[in-house]
Amino acid sequence: MRLVVLGGGESGVGTAILGKKKGYDVFVSDFGKIKNNYKEVLISNGIDWEEERHTQGLILNADVVMKSPGIPEKVPIVKKLIEKGVPVISEIEFAAPFTKAVTIGITGSNGKTTTTMLTYHLLKSAGLNVGLGGNIGKSFAEQVADDTYDSYVLELSSFQLDGIVDYKPHIAIITNISPDHLDRYEYNYQNYINSKMRITMNQTEDDYLIYDADDEAITAWLENNKTKAKLIPFSLTKTFNEGAFIQNNKMEVKINQDEFLMETESIALEGKHNMKNAMAATSVAKLMQIRKATIRESLSNFQGVEHRLEKVLKIQNVQYINDSKATNVNATFFALDSMNMPTVWIVGGVDKGNDYNELMSLVREKVKAIICLGVDNKKIIDAFGNVVDMMVEVTNMNDAVRMAQRLTEKGDAVLLSPACASFDLFENYEDRGNQFKQAVHNL
Ligand code: ADP
Repeated sequence: MRLVVLGGGESGVGTAILGKKKGYDVFVSDFGKIKNNYKEVLISNGIDWEEERHTQGLILNADVVMKSPGIPEKVPIVKKLIEKGVPVISEIEFAAPFTKAVTIGITGSNGKTTTTMLTYHLLKSAGLNVGLGGNIGKSFAEQVADDTYDSYVLELSSFQLDGIVDYKPHIAIITNISPDHLDRYEYNYQNYINSKMRITMNQTEDDYLIYDADDEAITAWLENNKTKAKLIPFSLTKTFNEGAFIQNNKMEVKINQDEFLMETESIALEGKHNMKNAMAATSVAKLMQIRKATIRESLSNFQGVEHRLEKVLKIQNVQYINDSKATNVNATFFALDSMNMPTVWIVGGVDKGNDYNELMSLVREKVKAIICLGVDNKKIIDAFGNVVDMMVEVTNMNDAVRMAQRLTEKGDAVLLSPACASFDLFENYEDRGNQFKQAVHNL
């Protein structure tokens, strides 16, 4: 059996290692350059590879192809493979049949990483022999090659889900759905929604789907389509006999006739969106029969994830917050919503088709000044120019942070929550967040 892997990054190299171990004739092809550390791994495992090209003769003879999530379906080599009828699948699809471990699959437009890390923290702290993978950290396929875990918590992007055929998570979470990555979905929002909902398509009566019942896209899909999975909704506004909700400042999770209760105040993560993430993760912990005391302790000591509403420093009683991972309006909505002090907001970058109107009332209520940090700030200026008293344009992070400091007084906050991608001025969102933190430390 010939396995061709398109893309020589984390998921590609991991899949190649697993394929090799299972006796496939493996070939890795990358149209860009393969990083040196990955090349070394391929060479030491005796796996053939090429870079900066796709040699058709070495690819079209595949029995199965694993396409890395970053490669769009419209590239010519993928089109040719599909025309020829060669199965083109994702890493999760390829790797899952080689493990008996239970998988918990987490998808959504925002909150995937936070919910994945929190779920992992809850299960790991309870002593489960659990692995972490998908879009985070070490490749799932590579971990399956060693196969030492009883369960995995997997962050799954819509691109990973587009490449599944039979894969099903025993427990699925959909955190929420809002327009994102539409360039990969023919600018059709419904296509993107359908792609996210693939997470449940192979689930059976023995499986669970945990989802945001406040989310219009998800609830509409569930009304018009079928899933066999047992549904576990969570909500900030409704209550359920089976599901998770907030009532009287307490988080309640009711599952299998058992109830878990915790004061929201004692949950370390802050903000409404994080209460949703906490409800989703706690539902998994309950389904996995983790003891209540253990869940309570883990929820109260989870420190959050870097670049997501990360508190950096308090200087002269001004709180600096790094939310660099907010690359769309929905994420920034929740960031602004969670602010309870007058805020200087640093925003801007590469706009993916943002509708800033959604933020208007929050900006009116919470934002005292806006610092535009992008190459092209016109849309932001047009949207909010008349809404805030002060608006400044800068082109680097040091200027942004110094300007922010000048505009604040005791009791204020400075929030970097760009609602945009970072590629105009930074390498990626991590670089943007790190530069922010460095600039704050330099004040
Ligand atoms: P993802 O992995 O889906 O990109 P992250 O956990 O990295 O999600 O969070 C991305 C951004 O979205 C951050 O700015 C974070 O504060 C915000 N966020 C986190 N959880 C949610 C949620 N449930 N709803 C909306 N925004 C969220």
